[in-house]
This record gives sequence, structure tokens and C-alpha cells, in this order.
Amino acid sequence: MSSTVYNWQIGRAMSYPHEERHPHWQFAFVFNPNRCIGCQTCTMSCKSTWTFSKGQEHMWWNNVESKPFGGYPQHWDAKLLAMLEEVNPGGQTWDASQKDGQKQPYGVFNGMTIFDAAERRLRPEGPQMALGYLPTDDEWRSPNIYEDTPTGQNFQKPDQYSGNVELPEHSVWFFHLARICNHCTYPGCLASCPRNAIYKRPEDGVVLIDQSRCRGYRRCVEGCPYKKSMYRPTTQTSEKCVACYPRLEGKDPTISPTGAPAETRCMSACVGKIRLQGLVKIDEQGAWANDPKNPLYYLIRERQVALPLYPQFGTEPNGFYIPPRWVPRSYLVQMFGPGVDYAIEQYSCPDRELLGILQLFRANRQIIFRYEIEPGKKVAEVEVTMPNGQSKTQEIFNDTVIGYNKLGEEVVRVTVEEPTFERDASMHVNSI
Ligand code: SF4
Ligand code: SF4
Repeated sequence: MSSTVYNWQIGRAMSYPHEERHPHWQFAFVFNPNRCIGCQTCTMSCKSTWTFSKGQEHMWWNNVESKPFGGYPQHWDAKLLAMLEEVNPGGQTWDASQKDGQKQPYGVFNGMTIFDAAERRLRPEGPQMALGYLPTDDEWRSPNIYEDTPTGQNFQKPDQYSGNVELPEHSVWFFHLARICNHCTYPGCLASCPRNAIYKRPEDGVVLIDQSRCRGYRRCVEGCPYKKSMYRPTTQTSEKCVACYPRLEGKDPTISPTGAPAETRCMSACVGKIRLQGLVKIDEQGAWANDPKNPLYYLIRERQVALPLYPQFGTEPNGFYIPPRWVPRSYLVQMFGPGVDYAIEQYSCPDRELLGILQLFRANRQIIFRYEIEPGKKVAEVEVTMPNGQSKTQEIFNDTVIGYNKLGEEVVRVTVEEPTFERDASMHVNSI
């Protein structure tokens, strides 16, 4: 049954093949590609937990791809963008002037989502529920193809992703885009499943595939715009990221001795401290409940420093990214929508509160539901070059940021300045 639902990321109502229904809490995360070093520790922590068995050899629920050339499966985003353009030539545009508070924070997307476009693209077997395609075996074969490969001469031509040429953009660039399933509010995978085998958990919005119902038709693989549902030939079913749900349920006694929710494996393992994961409260109408002391709410809704990945696809993904500062703007706007300039402006010179919240990334394995900041003394003034080339002075205070878990217990306390310790050389001479 098709219905009309509201998607705040595109600032408008849209059609969706199922009735509107919302969870009480929603799994969400912020990744900061400005800090990602592409070490793939997250990738391997997921692999060694969930996808190390026969038939899962090419299955990477977490992957990190080097943009613009890398992709797993190869070209996943470029292919779908091209399909949308073909259905709606020249129409995939935003009107960023129509911003309106929390209802349409980035303006309005005037183009077609994957659900709108599916109705326009008929196939012999009938329309799809969500516009998509099935990648070839070759495209799944090399998860880190073009790893660490920067743009070259081709990308220096004036019209090709050149964007704004002022600092701090680089003319030769790449960045690491870490990806997992976005546990979308309106999942393309769920919409496409003819067996109704995919469901969204009411307690945390995690999207799961019921293995006993799945018959391996791979419609979810086709219909997920992020290509995060994958087929397993040995069981002839599809599988996807399960958001480490036992950890979300506080079932790991080592990490959650009091039973409070913990972050997933990939989040906990992140060496570059680029990840912060949480659960956000959803109100009766299905909107994010106002909760500015939740660090995710603060970064995404209050400050808009973290943006959704390809919001124009229309699934309302719950993964958000702080756009990398050095990348040409036109490329970033295509990927994260029209909020890019504002997000980079803030991240380039974070104020006192934002700088404090940024310290919470990877500070603890339990999910932080609330933060507080205790003021400290001013420790520095730093000259910062802003994206428009102008100079700005950043004041840095050594504030203490305190994080609390779901039960209200304090689980972390960090200062803005990292403490340093000097070892007495005569005490611990290293003999190796
Ligand atoms: S990212 Fe893909 S697999 Fe995950 S919920 Fe969204 S549509 Fe489904
Ligand atoms: S562990 Fe963190 S820093 Fe390393 S590749 Fe993954 S997201 Fe990037």
C-alpha cells in the first residue's frame, strides 16, 4: 500500500510504498571524513564479527572507499545518479532558499527520489518499488578499488568538480568515505522486498532481514540506493548490517555492566576517532524529538554540521557526515546536499560548545545520551583561514565534557586539551 510520508531531509512529502510507521528511538551516527585515515580497522572489526563464514567472502557490511574513484560495489553512486538523471533530465535540483527550521533545514529537493522515479521507469516485469539496479559480480569483487587514489589532470579542468577555488580546497584530492547501512527511515530495501521479509524494529529503528522469510530474490539489493543489502549464495538469502543489535540492547556484560546500550563494533574500533553513534528519540508524529543535550541531535539538528549521505535518494538515511573541507564544493553538494557550505563554515572554526562535543567521538564504548560541559580556562587563540579565505580567531578553552549513558550514569569525562604525561627516563629505560 502506497502512502504519503514526510521526509525532513528533502523538506517535503513524498510517496513511499508502505504506510508511515515510526520507531520510538532511531539508530543514527555521525562520521567525520576530515579525520578518517582509511586504516580499515572498522571494516575488519565488522568482518571478523559478522561476515567471516562461507558464502560471505565478498560481503563487507562496513567498507571505506576512497572518493571520487573508489566504491563498493564499484560506481554504486555514480550509476544511480545517472539513472535518476535519465528519468528526470535536468530536474534533480534543490531550492536551498526555502529553508524552514527543523521541517526543512536544507531547503526543498525539487527532483525525484528513487520512489518517485521508479513509477516512471517501467520494465517488462512491471515497475520497481524503488529505482535501482543489481550490481554485477565484478563490481562486488574489489571492495577497496582505487584506494588512496587522488584526482589527477582530468579533475583540474575548470568545469569538472572544480567548485570554489579559494582555500582550503585542493585541486588534487581524495577522501575516505566510511559506509555502513544507514538504517533508513524509509528504506529502499524494505520497500522492494516482495516477501515482506525486511522490517524496522520499533525499539531502535534498526532494519533487519528475517532470514526465514527471505527467498533470495535480491530485490533489496536492487532497491537499496547505498547497496548495503548483499546476497549470500550459500544460503540463497540476502544479508545486511544488523547494527550489532545485542550491543544496542546492552547485552555485552564487559562493555555494559549495568545493561546500558553500547555502540557497534565498527564504531568502537575506529582508530581515527571519526565516529559517534547514538540513539535519537522519535516523537509521536515521527519527527526527531527536541533533545539538544543529546550529542547527535546537537551536531545534526541543532548545528547542522553533519549532513545526510545523498539525501536526494529519499530514504531519509540515518548516517550523517561532516563534509571534508578540502574537497570541491560541487562534488560535496551532490553528495551531501545544499547544507555543505554552512557545515564547513562551522567546522573550520568551531565555537566553544561545538569543540567540546567533538571531543566525545570515540571517548567511550557506551552510547552517550546526554552531555554536559564544565567551563575551563582559556588556553589559546588560533588564527584560522576560513573557506572564503578570510582569517578568524578561534578561542580555545580547556572545558571538560561529561557524557552520560541511557541510565543517566556518567561514563566519560574528557578535556578539550589532551593531558600529557612525562615519564622519568631513569625509571623506565626501555631495554628492547
Ligand atoms: S542503507 Fe540500504 S540496506 Fe540499509 S536500511 Fe537503507 S535501504 Fe536498507
Ligand atoms: S577505523 Fe575509523 S579511521 Fe580507520 S578507516 Fe574506519 S572510519 Fe576511518
